[in-house]
Amino acid sequence: MQQVNPARFMDMLQRLATFGAVPGGGVAREALTISELEARRWLCSRFSAPHYRWYMDDAANLFLRRAGLADALTPVMTGSHIDTQPVGGWLDGAYGVVAGMELFLALDDAGIRTQRPLELVIWTNEEGSRFSPGAMGSSAFADPTRLADFLPVTDAGGERFEQARDAARQATPAATSRALGRPVHAYLEAHIEQGPVLEDGGFQLGIVTGIQGVRWFEISVTGVSAHAGTTPLAARHDALMSAAQLISRLGEMAAARQDPALRFTVGRLEVSPGSINTIADRVTFTIDLRHPEEAVLAEMEALIRQTVEAKTGACGYALRSLMRRPPTRFDKAVIETVAAAVSATGAPACRLGSGAFHDAMYLADVCPTAMLFVPSHKGISHNPAEDTAEADLVAGVRALAGAVITLATPANALQSTPN
Ligand SMILES: [Zn+2]
Repeated sequence: MQQVNPARFMDMLQRLATFGAVPGGGVAREALTISELEARRWLCSRFSAPHYRWYMDDAANLFLRRAGLADALTPVMTGSHIDTQPVGGWLDGAYGVVAGMELFLALDDAGIRTQRPLELVIWTNEEGSRFSPGAMGSSAFADPTRLADFLPVTDAGGERFEQARDAARQATPAATSRALGRPVHAYLEAHIEQGPVLEDGGFQLGIVTGIQGVRWFEISVTGVSAHAGTTPLAARHDALMSAAQLISRLGEMAAARQDPALRFTVGRLEVSPGSINTIADRVTFTIDLRHPEEAVLAEMEALIRQTVEAKTGACGYALRSLMRRPPTRFDKAVIETVAAAVSATGAPACRLGSGAFHDAMYLADVCPTAMLFVPSHKGISHNPAEDTAEADLVAGVRALAGAVITLATPANALQSTPN
């Protein structure tokens, strides 16, 4: 789209990064903190023309609606999140939101009114670092019954999500309240890749076909605590030594599959009583297992269970499933719309799956959805060093604009496909 203005776009992106900017680099703008609310107010202040309206729902998701010529039609939605990790980078989430802002302003400059209304959304608490779980806003939008579980969740300082949500409402008087969850014609989210695939391949844009599935487990190993100085090695029920053997065996088993798409991570280990001179009586550790194929996840889970059950010796073992999410397959018609818009930009591009979760994962449950990636320098994110070349960021805005305009034209009927 001709009217996409790179200078204005980069200026807005840099301005958004000032809310919660950390001296020396990075952005600290966790969900619904003062910095995030100030950033939301700034966003609202940028759009005051009569064809714009701001709304906020019961999960504090913020929507900027751009009226369509056929305004009763369901909207085409784009957006992302502006919350960050405790200290994150300037592009994760922010990119997709500012790309949508630039799209709207470019449409204004071009004097274009789409047939379908457009909505730019800022999802609440995608990162999940302040309130757990992540993607609260988009998951509550997809299934409003989830909100009841989220409202009592507290942050590290004891503040409830509900209080923070109410404060967000008060801080954003420009937004009219609206009910959670509404029909959406299509959702398209632009985001940084947060991995190395695009940069390594020399691609400027990525057409995202889906998000890999995940299963989380917690394994407990129970032994007997005893004095480190007096208990002979042969007489011990050492939970930490047993856990270490088990972790090593599971890790070797995962590596032996030589599957480049498989992810296996033991990221948390808790040792009780955690004393230098006491044999551990209890160890718990977690497994984060990911793959784009549900069948592989099931096979791996069976192998993990067998390995844990087969472990004998002085200790007891128990495995608990914490969370599972099947792979998300984005909508074929939206993917092809994105592919056509990407190809129109002339930017080198490829198709890829997403290794990380995104709000789009929940939207895919309720409407035709896809994503568009731009490269992450060295694959880095959740880090002040997060960066993307300006030319790639701008190419992404142009592709997003092309795809959203196509989706907002009713003649281009979407053949929705099940996920
Ligand atoms: Zn993100």
